[in-house]
Amino acid sequence: MKNLWQNAEADACGNDLQLRVYSSRLLGRDKSLVLHGGGNTSVKMRQPDLFGSDEDVLHVKGSGWDLETIAEAGFAPVRLDHLKKLAQLPALADPEMVNQLVTHQTRAAAPVPSVEAILHAILPYRFVDHTHADAVVTVTNTADGEARIREIYGDKVVVVPYVMPGFDLARLCAQRFAAQSGPQTIGMVLLNHGIFSFGATAQESYERMIALVGLAEDYLRRHHAWDVALPQVPPAPAAAVARDLAQLRADISQLAGFPVVVARRTEGKFPAFARRPDVGTIAQQGPATPDHVIRTKRLPLVGRDVAAYAAAYRAYFAEHEPHAKERKTMLDAAPRVVLDAEFGLCAVGRTAQDAGIVADIYAHTIDIILGATALGGYRALPARDIFDVEYWDLEQAKLKKGGKPPAFAGEVALVTGAASGIGKACVEALMARGAAVVALDLQASIGTLSDKAAYLGIQCDVSDEAQLKAAIARGVEAFGGMDMLVLNAGIFPGGCKIEALPTADWQRVMRINLDANLVLMRECHPFLKLAPRGGRIVIIGSKNVPAPGPGAAAYSASKAALNQLARVAALEWGGDNIRINSLHPNAVFDTGIWTEEVLASRAKHYGLTVDEYKRNNVLKTEVTSRDVAELAAELCGPLFAKTTGAQIPVDGGNDRVI
Ligand code: ZN
Repeated sequence: MKNLWQNAEADACGNDLQLRVYSSRLLGRDKSLVLHGGGNTSVKMRQPDLFGSDEDVLHVKGSGWDLETIAEAGFAPVRLDHLKKLAQLPALADPEMVNQLVTHQTRAAAPVPSVEAILHAILPYRFVDHTHADAVVTVTNTADGEARIREIYGDKVVVVPYVMPGFDLARLCAQRFAAQSGPQTIGMVLLNHGIFSFGATAQESYERMIALVGLAEDYLRRHHAWDVALPQVPPAPAAAVARDLAQLRADISQLAGFPVVVARRTEGKFPAFARRPDVGTIAQQGPATPDHVIRTKRLPLVGRDVAAYAAAYRAYFAEHEPHAKERKTMLDAAPRVVLDAEFGLCAVGRTAQDAGIVADIYAHTIDIILGATALGGYRALPARDIFDVEYWDLEQAKLKKGGKPPAFAGEVALVTGAASGIGKACVEALMARGAAVVALDLQASIGTLSDKAAYLGIQCDVSDEAQLKAAIARGVEAFGGMDMLVLNAGIFPGGCKIEALPTADWQRVMRINLDANLVLMRECHPFLKLAPRGGRIVIIGSKNVPAPGPGAAAYSASKAALNQLARVAALEWGGDNIRINSLHPNAVFDTGIWTEEVLASRAKHYGLTVDEYKRNNVLKTEVTSRDVAELAAELCGPLFAKTTGAQIPVDGGNDRVI
């Protein structure tokens, strides 16, 4: 464990709440302590109320905040006296507990306080820190976890058996604390869940956490159960498994009832863990700490039998639901983690970000399982305890409240010529609708256009078939398939009459504007066929198709041929539920090639001002990249679900086209 405390940084904090923010972020920075919203922290402060009297307020992490990035606004200020009174109640249902927490805050705009707020309140220390440290859950997820914890910590910690987070856990901790604590106590271990530390100052509480978790790590190291190595296994190449991966995604999406991102991950221990002969046993015990179940489900799918997984999940629900206090609605029966000898790990999520979180959690879960196995056997909580967390009424309420997901949530689009102009605007329009996007461009800047998990930029020469195939395979590996293509990349060489047009120039235009799109369509066809909502292709054509002009023979011919290719594809692939439609934009000037100077000179050439030139169409309106992109995205959406083979102008009205 590395102590990240820096006196200079701490000295810059003006008060205890700022120190609370500072040390919470230190905890959040260490992924072996907390992951993705896990853990929580608090500070108790005396502050004046509106009438000049002092009151004690517990500032506790608000739900929806992550320790790594938490700010002062992320702490919910709850009146401490009320929390202590609540702790005296013999019982309190969780929804009413949350109601009490929310209605006894001193700031209306504060987030909903952590459900562990009462537990923080009853601990008689100014600062309280709680994590789900890998080392601690490794030790406690074993048959003799409690004895090992006592061996490691002696009287330094209070030990609390597993109880689900919420009011009952706070009550039990209060009892155990009263019975076991003494002057030596600096923390509390919750078996199969995590660890608390506490102290009079932010630094004391933080450093006690580091020291306590460090002791667990030392113990594991002594028992050769820390950082357990696995042999390096070379993963199967992306292209070799792309079709099978897309089939798996199709199966999981069908089971889930909505499209999902399936991210294949081959780094670190994933491939070797997935190939362990005992993976069917050690990976089928349960999560390392119960709140992971919301992200990962209780068990991974080992292999590819999605139907068998679903049957087992339904049986799990049928077995445990009757014991719940109130009736539950079954969640989808689809896995979130897939361990497969050939794929390695596949992380499943409604979005690419969700899938990334699943992969992060499972990377730590593997370390925990390997460590506990080295100690003699990984033993997670029984299924009924995990069920209670997965189907907690607070989680079910969130589910019912949950708004409509974006139109393309879980879907994957590929856009070419995506670094600028219409292509870049298409990437934005698709991502704004929730799609994951594979963006191709010749420009190296494509790699860094967005840092979102739903974005994969690949530098690629579309006229090179091998590069295209590799890019498609990488895209499928990243997100699990391909639902939409926006074929935008193209070149427009300057005016050249036919009698002077060199063969090489003609062929170059054809290679990029036409041939590349044949390759893309052909190579993506197997994936589009598997798209959960049907495949969609949008061709960015040109006004030149219906209304060609002199001096652009190669460009006009290439776009016309592409248009015909699209129409034939619409006929051939309708039976595969793939729709192909074309847009014909004209005079879109907010792209890289149209500099202020070029615009000014063209306008002058026609005797127009720049503004008149931009609006030189029937509607006297300016057409932007965004206008084209929004329509391209809509063409992929439900409005056009019954349209294929269409050609739509986006040109403000052109008298030659009309
Ligand atoms: Zn916890």
